[in-house]
Amino acid sequence: DATAARRDAYYAASLTKFMPFREPLVFKKGQMQYLWDAEGRKYTDLLGMNLCISVGHSHPRVVAAAMEQAQELTHCTTMFYHPVPAHFAEELAATMPKGPNGDIEWVVHFTNSGSEAIDLAMTMARTATGNLDLLALRTAYHGPTAAAQSITGISGWRHPGMPGNVAFVPEPNQYRGIFGPGTQLYLDEIDRTIQSATTGRLAGMFIESVQGYGGIVEMPPGYLSGAAERVRAAGGLYIADEVQSGFGRTGDHMWAFEADGVIPDIVVMAKGIGNGFPLGAVVARKDVAAPMADKFMFHTYGANPTCCAAGRAVLQVIDEDKVQQNAKDVGGALLERLRDLKQRHPAIGDVRGRGLMLAIEMVKDRKTKEPDRDTTAAVFEACRDAGLIMSKSGPHQSVLRMVPPMCLSMQDVDNVADGLDAAFTAANG
Ligand code: PMP
Repeated sequence: DATAARRDAYYAASLTKFMPFREPLVFKKGQMQYLWDAEGRKYTDLLGMNLCISVGHSHPRVVAAAMEQAQELTHCTTMFYHPVPAHFAEELAATMPKGPNGDIEWVVHFTNSGSEAIDLAMTMARTATGNLDLLALRTAYHGPTAAAQSITGISGWRHPGMPGNVAFVPEPNQYRGIFGPGTQLYLDEIDRTIQSATTGRLAGMFIESVQGYGGIVEMPPGYLSGAAERVRAAGGLYIADEVQSGFGRTGDHMWAFEADGVIPDIVVMAKGIGNGFPLGAVVARKDVAAPMADKFMFHTYGANPTCCAAGRAVLQVIDEDKVQQNAKDVGGALLERLRDLKQRHPAIGDVRGRGLMLAIEMVKDRKTKEPDRDTTAAVFEACRDAGLIMSKSGPHQSVLRMVPPMCLSMQDVDNVADGLDAAFTAANG
């Protein structure tokens, strides 16, 4: 295939290692939850092009909004005023909790990607607190830039020479975490780590409200609020990474942290915000963002009106098409079907998730929970043959992650469950 040959010849080694399938897959077209390859074969996209596609591939209203803006004025750099990003900032701020007294004010800084937003949140937290030390979870993924890598716990994503002042704490993984199920011991470990591995004064702690690349690790009840309390006691801020879990994907809430009734100091978002248009944002409490005014900081393409027009359309579609409710209903039905599959296929150790952020974890033995990377790879390939695109994730690449566009339908649930069933049988799972 000419595309594959060209890519292999001209992509840097850093990109060629990350080939999801044994045989190259060249995509040509997308419509809502479906994709078509160069030969015209149809797939259900359970990866949502890495969660960027929140409301559907080439969603007509999002494309129309972006096209219209691109024709009028494609780019307007942040130092000038433009109504579209100004409106979008107001709308994003309005999605944030206002607190018990209704007086929390939120402000927005637009970036082009999640990792840029993570970098900015790190700088903001360090500037606001005057402290340097950060905490993150051992199976966290926060992005590819040097600063974002420094708080990424999964070793396969970390390269040499990343910045320091970061300590890692064990993730409260209810299936295979070091303290088993529960919340308290994981919270105690935050205090212990602050005392043993930091100066005792924190800038903040980053937590994905539901871990993505870590393998859809949900935070147990009380963990986010307990972590925020401990971090604030050490002078730091609680920073929610909603890059994967935001925009209604978990079904019950617009932002996954809301499930724990906690209010972050800084929220980082990207991916689904633009339905495929490159965009990220830091949404912070006004007082937390204020000290950064002492120095310059802006992103040349940040607040790009074309991307922000797409973002505004995404918010509108989420509201008008009841996308969050669909994520809850369809995700709930899919989770039920995954539980049925677990009854029949011994390779499935755990199924979990919320809304349309679901996972199947594969083990060699349900008692020892030894991760089964090979069966995961085999099921993943067999799914492709069955027309299902998903992703391998988790620190052992033993988790199949399902994070489709939130327009997935009940009919798709049947196709996905039947396809997975056949894939497990084909892979001898
Ligand atoms: N945080 C999380 C939780 C992510 O999953 C990602 C991207 N996979 C990022 C941050 C970084 O986003 P980007 O790739 O847009 O830089």
